[in-house]
Amino acid sequence: MRKGLVCVLCPNGCYVEVELRETSSGPQVQEVTGALCKKGDKWVRQEVIQPLRTIASSVLVEGGNFALASVRTDAPIPLESISSVMEEIKRVRVKAPVNIGQVILANPAGTPCNIIATRAVERA
Ligand code: SF4
Repeated sequence: MRKGLVCVLCPNGCYVEVELRETSSGPQVQEVTGALCKKGDKWVRQEVIQPLRTIASSVLVEGGNFALASVRTDAPIPLESISSVMEEIKRVRVKAPVNIGQVILANPAGTPCNIIATRAVERA
């Protein structure tokens, strides 16, 4: 099976074609054509087998000078895990102070990442 996609890693937007072969352990990449660099080649191989995404959101803060602290994943997670991770983030309440880089939630929905703060919130 041949699949075409546009690499989104840089403004070049290379159109890349991937030849996939079904195996007993799932689809395997046979060949990649059209990627102008190794980084894009690697991204496309990952994207067609298991797409990964980083996500950003915010959590409620109690007793802070801001009601919300922005957060993000510290590593990409499988695309299919995003809704369950967002559900866990939605339930989080943290007490001020919150520091940038602080782990707010470890391994949400069993994914190998942490949710970390990207905004500092001081005590009110
Ligand atoms: S393959 Fe390389 S050059 Fe082409 S869009 Fe992707 S990152 Fe950019």
